[in-house]
Amino acid sequence: MAETTRPSIIVILLDALRADCAPFMPETPHLRSLGLMRPELGALTDLVRGAFLFTQAMACSAYTTACVGSIFTGLLPPEHGVRAFDLTSLSNDVRTLAEILAESGYATCAMTDQPAVLQPMGLLRGFQKTAPTEDEALAWWDSYDSMPRFLFLHLWDLHKPYGMPVGRAYRRQYPAIVAQWQERLRSRGIAEPTASQFLDENEERQRVYAMQNAWEDACGFKAGLENYIAGLVAFDQGRLRDLAGALAERRGVAESITMVLADHGEGRDFRPSWRMAHSMSLADDVIHIPLYLRLPGQAPALPISQQVSQADVAPTLLDCAGLLAQRTAPRSPCAGRSLLPRLRGEHLPEQPAYAEVSTLNNDPNKPVGQAAGGREATLRFRLLRHARRKYHLAGQLFSLDDIPAGAAPAEVIRLLCRDLLGRIERQEDVATWLPILQDSSVPDQARRRMLLALIERSDEYRFLVKYAIYDLEHDPLEVKPIDPRRRASDWEAYRKQVQIMLDIDRQARPGEPLLTNEADEEIILKRLQTLGYVE
Ligand SMILES: [Zn+2]
Repeated sequence: MAETTRPSIIVILLDALRADCAPFMPETPHLRSLGLMRPELGALTDLVRGAFLFTQAMACSAYTTACVGSIFTGLLPPEHGVRAFDLTSLSNDVRTLAEILAESGYATCAMTDQPAVLQPMGLLRGFQKTAPTEDEALAWWDSYDSMPRFLFLHLWDLHKPYGMPVGRAYRRQYPAIVAQWQERLRSRGIAEPTASQFLDENEERQRVYAMQNAWEDACGFKAGLENYIAGLVAFDQGRLRDLAGALAERRGVAESITMVLADHGEGRDFRPSWRMAHSMSLADDVIHIPLYLRLPGQAPALPISQQVSQADVAPTLLDCAGLLAQRTAPRSPCAGRSLLPRLRGEHLPEQPAYAEVSTLNNDPNKPVGQAAGGREATLRFRLLRHARRKYHLAGQLFSLDDIPAGAAPAEVIRLLCRDLLGRIERQEDVATWLPILQDSSVPDQARRRMLLALIERSDEYRFLVKYAIYDLEHDPLEVKPIDPRRRASDWEAYRKQVQIMLDIDRQARPGEPLLTNEADEEIILKRLQTLGYVE
């Protein structure tokens, strides 16, 4: 294909857009179970109208960086090397979408609200220009009119704190938003927390982030989801409407391939109780993402309900550009593949979707990677998701399975204290458990049963189960993990899935050192401290 005939490509990544809040997506029980409705989103609806819609697209991780790595390479996190936040950068052995397009005659430009998150991880490789604002990115678009262009736009507005638009033009609204949240907390008698645990240099955003968490802890998960939806509507009516309008009147946009997607969703994350976030959980509302692909001159058929992965993005776009052969060939099963045959009505074999989440330095004995500064990460969870079942395997974490069958409560307490209680933020939980367990007038067996019953009733339970199958058809909210060891047929199926996950791990490529200078290292260290990862 001659360079001049290659189509321009626009990828719009809406960070943390929940699948069930996006236009044209089918309802999921997550909103309905809480009595919430999908919001009306006029600008986003206009942006994706006329696109092919994949209703069952899955993220490869709960972290922005690992997900963007998969979007740009078509590989799973173990194979592209970006697995935990701020640990390692993209492997030098893999080529990104932007690199391949740039080498094939494309002009390439990225506009991201978080260059400090993507750049050190090597995720801006191949972009000839990084634009600080969408206005500059669109000016760049206009100036390369005679060439095929690849434009990546990454908008962070839906990320917590909700309802605080990103971008210089909007910062003047922040003091009013801080005051609103202070008033909201006061009206419910909730103390204003100290700002912490948020990777944002902006103090007002950090304060609102902490206040929104306090609000959710006091008012429940539904209150958090309502905040998220209100922020989504404000984004749609503000910055996104401006962007969609600017794109609609641009020369060459209608003739371009346009993809709109999320890196991950936003939902039930593991905290003292469910809290709106992403990073610790692979629940469906965190990994289910919306995925739209508009191909010029092609009218879409019905929404496609076959399960696909965000690792399919790069192969699909390269296929559109006639460059699929240039991609880094995957070594592991379940890596990305082109979805174009499916759009032509051809059969695409079913393939499970892989996802994992790793966090820094839980167990130094079993790291998945090591950064130059000695930071280490462990794999917390991984899974293979099929259309109806999710096969879930906890990584190197404490699990109920680690409690020996005959262990006395004192031993159970010791194990819990070592690996679990330290991670529970709400100390009342510890205060509730310990007296019961330490009451020696209660028989050992009874205390042990009480402890397990307590754990099973808690939100943390799912995170303590090492081997679990979720039956998505009968338990779409994933509240009742099935122990695969109870039935021979489940165990047989489960073991096969575990084997595939271990095969994926065996193909892992180590990531590279972070692309930072000393000043950046300090910023990263500070960020890790505010997140509570390092002392
Ligand atoms: Zn993200």
